[in-house]
Amino acid sequence: MAKEEEYDKLPDKDAAKEFYAKYEPKEILGRGISSTVRRCIEKETGKEFAAKIIDLSSDGVNDGSNLESTKQEVDILRHVAGHPYIIELQDVFESSTFIFLVFELCKNGELFDYLTTVVTLSEKKTRYIMRQVLEGVEHIHSRNVVHRDLKPENILLDDNLNVKITDFGFAKLLNGEERLHDLCGTPGYLAPETLRCNMIEDAPGYSFEVDIWACGVIMYTLLVGCPPFWHRKQMVMLRNIMEGKFSFSSPEWADISEPPKDLIRKLLVVDPKQRISIKDALKHPFFQTVKLQQREFNAKRKFQWAILVIRAMIRIQRLRYTPEPLSLDTARSDPYRLKLIRKIVDGCAFRVYGHWVKKGEGQNRAALFENTQKTELKHIYVTNLSR
Ligand code: ADP
Ligand code: MG
Repeated sequence: MAKEEEYDKLPDKDAAKEFYAKYEPKEILGRGISSTVRRCIEKETGKEFAAKIIDLSSDGVNDGSNLESTKQEVDILRHVAGHPYIIELQDVFESSTFIFLVFELCKNGELFDYLTTVVTLSEKKTRYIMRQVLEGVEHIHSRNVVHRDLKPENILLDDNLNVKITDFGFAKLLNGEERLHDLCGTPGYLAPETLRCNMIEDAPGYSFEVDIWACGVIMYTLLVGCPPFWHRKQMVMLRNIMEGKFSFSSPEWADISEPPKDLIRKLLVVDPKQRISIKDALKHPFFQTVKLQQREFNAKRKFQWAILVIRAMIRIQRLRYTPEPLSLDTARSDPYRLKLIRKIVDGCAFRVYGHWVKKGEGQNRAALFENTQKTELKHIYVTNLSR
């Protein structure tokens, strides 16, 4: 009963009262299984924050597991604090029925929702986001913490679209060479070694490398909008993960250069010992931007360069009016192959069916990208066209 005594010191109403005295709660920003996150305003300063309100009374049989896990989450949040890409915990109010965690507010919400509005990210934007994610994870690991639930829903974006890693609900502080065995995380992002723990008796367990795997899944998803191992049957998806079976064969990949593909291949390596380290991932050519060398001023070269720029600008201006040539055959048999049409089709699909995209597994998201035609529909389509 030591736990109860500890929390008896702070009666329910006082903790809630204290919170409501200091902050004014506003609209809901997100929900978890037993938590609600609301925007709130600090009355004294007028500054905005996000309050995660955890209902302890929703504990299954009131076994205190919510309380224990929230206390662990708070400890870890404090342990990893002080990094620009990690969410900052501002205040905590605890009682025996509610816990209020007050965080800095991320106005641009989840990376997941951002991805849903833009469908896919360019290589440049992916580089910008992934560098921050990897640097954040590197910091978390340097504090001996493994996150275990990295995914676009748990990566928030602040006013400047900078990353803030959040939700340390599954995170764990590791002692020395400690290895973990429990199955936790989100199916599509689970590493093969985590799954192996659940399937093989004497599996060696897993460690920090599971977060690096999740970064690979995130990077793949950002570039093409759908996750790498998806299959509508979850068992097949899990088998794909165990075997590291993914491909760059969908049409979206045709427009993507080699460095990001190479990095993804190195992040999604089944054997955690062979998987690239975060340090090496950050040194990968994908993250190396070409630095212009300082040269002496040369009037002739500058003039030639200016002409080239103007010609390029004129060409780009005209580009709008000269779309990719589209033959009747391609339009009939494989319109999705053309980038322009693909963007339009995906954009429309996301605008119409975006609300179907279920958070967590990314499965419905992948379903939106399934572009194989049903045979009978194809038949109707072709006969209509040939009329
Ligand atoms: P859970 O453990 O229940 O998943 P999270 O900490 O992930 O809880 O928060 C749930 C959701 O609330 C997030 O996915 C996000 O949409 C929203 N959210 C959480 N923290 C913030 C924040 N600081 N700023 C803005 N939105 C937030
Ligand atoms: Mg979450």
